[in-house]
Amino acid sequence: MSEQKKKLATLAVHAGEEAPNSGAAVTTPIYATSTYIFANTKELCDHHEGVAHRMEYGRYGNPTQIAAEKKIAALEGAEDALLFSSGMAAVTTTLLAMLSQGNDIVLTSDCYRKTRQFSNTMLRKFGVNVHFVAPDDYEGMEKLFEEKKPRLLISESPTNPYLNVLDLERVVAIAKKHRIKVLIDSTFATPVNQRPLEFGVDLVMHSATKYLGGHNDLLAGVICGSEALVGAIRDCQSMLGGILDAHAAYLLIRGLKTLSLRVQQQNASGQRIAEWLESHPKVTRVHYPGLKSHPHHEVAAAQMKGFGGVVSFELDGKLEQISKFIDACEIPGIGPSLGGAESLIEQPSLMSFYELSSEERLAVGIKDTLVRFSIGLEDPEDLIADLEQALTKLG
Ligand code: PLP
Repeated sequence: MSEQKKKLATLAVHAGEEAPNSGAAVTTPIYATSTYIFANTKELCDHHEGVAHRMEYGRYGNPTQIAAEKKIAALEGAEDALLFSSGMAAVTTTLLAMLSQGNDIVLTSDCYRKTRQFSNTMLRKFGVNVHFVAPDDYEGMEKLFEEKKPRLLISESPTNPYLNVLDLERVVAIAKKHRIKVLIDSTFATPVNQRPLEFGVDLVMHSATKYLGGHNDLLAGVICGSEALVGAIRDCQSMLGGILDAHAAYLLIRGLKTLSLRVQQQNASGQRIAEWLESHPKVTRVHYPGLKSHPHHEVAAAQMKGFGGVVSFELDGKLEQISKFIDACEIPGIGPSLGGAESLIEQPSLMSFYELSSEERLAVGIKDTLVRFSIGLEDPEDLIADLEQALTKLG
């Protein structure tokens, strides 16, 4: 059966790995080596001439990493995928590969804070003009495209922490009209829920630290797209060096095998818990694209197969009262990150935005009343019981 015909769960288990021939290892081994030997000078020259494809040096690739890349490329329906030591290494290397001094870039205003910081500091320092647009302001986006002629639009979908969903078809249509490349950070969706390349997006990235790894035990990032685009980013990575270690690649492969199962469970738990929260008197607002009350519910329902395991919600109380609720939760740990087996909970105000005042946080859309809940693989009824008892501590 051709790879294209296989369903996602089958690809997650088998793609990128050795065919089950006699004597084959069922799992891809960890290649714990920094370099690879050439039998003779001819073999070396053939390698440089592209006559033979093989390994050379660890910074240029490792067989465990390549197996993981092939698996992710198959899951995203991409020609090529490239792994990095973290999601941020994937973002920064990609932007440095694609942008030159004098270029313009547009980011959606609620994209990951470190991506914004990198663009606002490093990219500006090197002469790139950085613009922001609200994730659902399509007119504003088109105006910026017309006026600034940017090289690239970068956005998450869904975004963090309000789970805004971009209309990918609409964004791609506007971008194509102006010959602008589109990069979607699909970390919150995973290929189980959405495959942006099918909508004509040029590049998809993930913080593989989250759902792709799925066990809160590794850091990794990945970029997927055409061979030409990913190849140019690979050249840049070979200089910048943010590669994925073979041990982490092995853990990532192991995590990916259960991606489909895990995300389906997290979708179901996410929907159940979001609906429960929405009916609770102490919860003033729930942000979850699977709810009809979410401003992008219709777009999300049309382009996504599920809405993921992150639910953000606002509580009736002040920052300190909400901390009491957070501290009273017994199952989820207080911590950043998402997408793993263990549920995690946080007040974004006190996690990623701690150093800002309430007013500064509000200016970037982060309310002190906001809680972000990353649902793991625990039974949703246990999670609800835990939230219920913790909400009684809100005061
Ligand atoms: N993109 C999104 C949406 C994220 O949530 C994160 C991390 O939280 C990143 C990128 C950065 O990934 P990493 O932490 O793996 O560097």
